[in-house]
Amino acid sequence: MNSVHSTDSGQFESVIGLEVHSQLLTKTKMFCTCPNIFGIEPNSAVCPVCLGLPGALPVINFEGIKLAVKAALALNIDINKRSVFVRKNYFYPDLPKGYQISQYLEPVSSGGYLDIKVEGVEKRVEINRLHIEEDAGKLIHVENESYVDLNRAGTPLIEIVSEPNINSSGEAVAYLKELRNILVYLGVSDGNMEEGSFRCDANVSVRKKGDPGLGTRTEVKNVNSFKFVEKAINYEIERQIDVILDGGKVIQETRLYDSKEDLTRPMRGKEEAHDYRYFEEPDLPPLILTDKFISEIKGSITELPTAKRERYATEYLLTEYDGGVLTQDKEIALYFEDLIEINEGRVEIKKIANWVINDLLSELKTRDKMKVRKERVIDLVKIENFLGLILEVETGNINKNTGKTVLAEMLLSGKKAGEIIKEKNLAQVSDEKGIGDIINHVLEENPKELTDLISGKDKLFGFFVGAVMKKTKGKANPKKVNEILKRSIAEKIKGCRE
Ligand SMILES: [Zn+2]
Repeated sequence: MNSVHSTDSGQFESVIGLEVHSQLLTKTKMFCTCPNIFGIEPNSAVCPVCLGLPGALPVINFEGIKLAVKAALALNIDINKRSVFVRKNYFYPDLPKGYQISQYLEPVSSGGYLDIKVEGVEKRVEINRLHIEEDAGKLIHVENESYVDLNRAGTPLIEIVSEPNINSSGEAVAYLKELRNILVYLGVSDGNMEEGSFRCDANVSVRKKGDPGLGTRTEVKNVNSFKFVEKAINYEIERQIDVILDGGKVIQETRLYDSKEDLTRPMRGKEEAHDYRYFEEPDLPPLILTDKFISEIKGSITELPTAKRERYATEYLLTEYDGGVLTQDKEIALYFEDLIEINEGRVEIKKIANWVINDLLSELKTRDKMKVRKERVIDLVKIENFLGLILEVETGNINKNTGKTVLAEMLLSGKKAGEIIKEKNLAQVSDEKGIGDIINHVLEENPKELTDLISGKDKLFGFFVGAVMKKTKGKANPKKVNEILKRSIAEKIKGCRE
């Protein structure tokens, strides 16, 4: 959307609060023993409890509590030793009980923060609370028919509510990425946005800069990728500024983001404010957590991305950029650390980091675009095989470019670098005589270029290096080629003078 008021829009600032729902990686649902899995036959993981049949009683899933507390502790949120489950009442066809078990006035944790970095600037995003609730089922719409799948009904969720102290879509995305990363590191969530295990609602409002109060906010629901969160927020900010500059008023409403049209629209039929008639869940006791329980969970938290980044800088002497890239994905960070461990100091750590960042990750990106799951790449190239490849290059058996070819082949076949080099005869030609002969051939084949080079056209040196590499199918040791070629040319020049 192009704002017609772009010159005036600079006097506004945006205020954003995010509500994140993340599914927990428990084996069973939050209040019954049905399996908590995605993608199985509809309505095959249901029981009287999650179907809301009369007389069925919920039982708290201890594993779900553990994961929620773990997440809260990692996000610096204070644990409330006493919390209460409530019923949140509303009618919707995917909610068989007519209410959702949630937490309201007494959540399991409240008051925390998450530090993020946007374009090099640090910012602390305050977190209001993290509470536990159960998910609803799912409606599937096919043409004119709608179906209900209740496999998801009753699966455990945490809701993490930020304070409205995020001021741009860039900050919002940085916060969401860091949050998702932490939950995945902890093993609390698989963070899969496409399958809806990690989803976000954004509350957006604008106000005149320096205004202490908050403007009227709109809520953009269930945006399922980081890119769309950014676009949806940007659209909403511009739309609200336009409304105000046109003399209108922003209406408090829920809107849906349409990724095809890149705009938000009011959600039909949901305009009225909900009265959820919260009351304490009579079938569940208050949740009481002991200090011992909390400290045990605290002790089980493994190294998080921020701590890893700091360690990579001090222990591995890597740059902030390298550390950031390597810790973006838990699997990659652990893969890298395992490489360092089995390397036992043979290759410089910075070089290993470069291989992972420049070669392995770019391969992952291509595969991501092709919708191939990244875990498969790590499975295909075993750590010892990847280090084997790096060593082949470091010892000069193959050059860096051939190394890239070998990596691509390793990803296809899962073979070791040594096997591929042997099979395809890729070993680098390093012997002086062999390279010298090829150089002499190339010089003879290009007499005109040689004369020009001797008479001072230095650019042509690169032409000859290229020709030699081409002749050896890229297998010649480029350093050697440069050395020997320089020597040969020098001799020719000397020959001419004599
Ligand atoms: Zn069930």
